[in-house]
Amino acid sequence: MSLTDILARIRAAEAAHGRPEGSVTLIAVSKVQPPERVEAVLREGHRVFGENYVQEAAGKWPAWKDRFAGVELHMIGPLQTNKAKVAVDLFDAIHTVDRPSLAEKLARLADQRGACPRLFVQVNTGEEPQKAGVLPGETDAFVSMCRGLGLPVEGLMCIPPEDRDSTPHFATLATMAARNGLSGLSMGMSGDFEAAIAHGATHVRVGSAIFGARNYG
Ligand SMILES: *Cc1c(COP(=O)(O)O)cnc(C)c1O
Repeated sequence: MSLTDILARIRAAEAAHGRPEGSVTLIAVSKVQPPERVEAVLREGHRVFGENYVQEAAGKWPAWKDRFAGVELHMIGPLQTNKAKVAVDLFDAIHTVDRPSLAEKLARLADQRGACPRLFVQVNTGEEPQKAGVLPGETDAFVSMCRGLGLPVEGLMCIPPEDRDSTPHFATLATMAARNGLSGLSMGMSGDFEAAIAHGATHVRVGSAIFGARNYG
């Protein structure tokens, strides 16, 4: 697939599900991709990218931000509290706010800097022990806590269990977001972004379908 194909599929899914054109943002997930593939997508004009690792992103994105105006970077991987300071300087949005200690750290950094990235709370909709995210039953309280700290929570994010139908997870996340008055829904990856759009995704995170398979070496 190419960037153009994916964008066309997103616009078609918006139209098919009565979503306004442009209401879904494509986050091109560039983690571990060879630099030439990422540069090709930058040259095609795309500006919204997602990364999973603070160190990797800090190593490659400052130079691209200098060369390509208007880059918007989204952190979509687990965030260690001791990397939060580097992360808030580098990222425009963080999709993986998932515990009180991280929320408190982000609030302190926001106070010091007078600014904070846009934030999404990650929900472990599948209640998988190995996966990050607050449990569905704890989400409302955690969102309230973040708001109490003055954090700009924009929405919810989920990574459904692999190899199963994602649809119920997308529906659950949408219900929880609506209940909490949150407009952002970060859900859908290469294999299921159209289903996510049908359920109200505002941000889809697509990697391999744009860049090709990842080689972790
Ligand atoms: C890697 C990753 C993606 C992209 O996955 P693809 O299947 O390559 O589209 C999306 N979201 C998160 C959280 C990821 O870690």
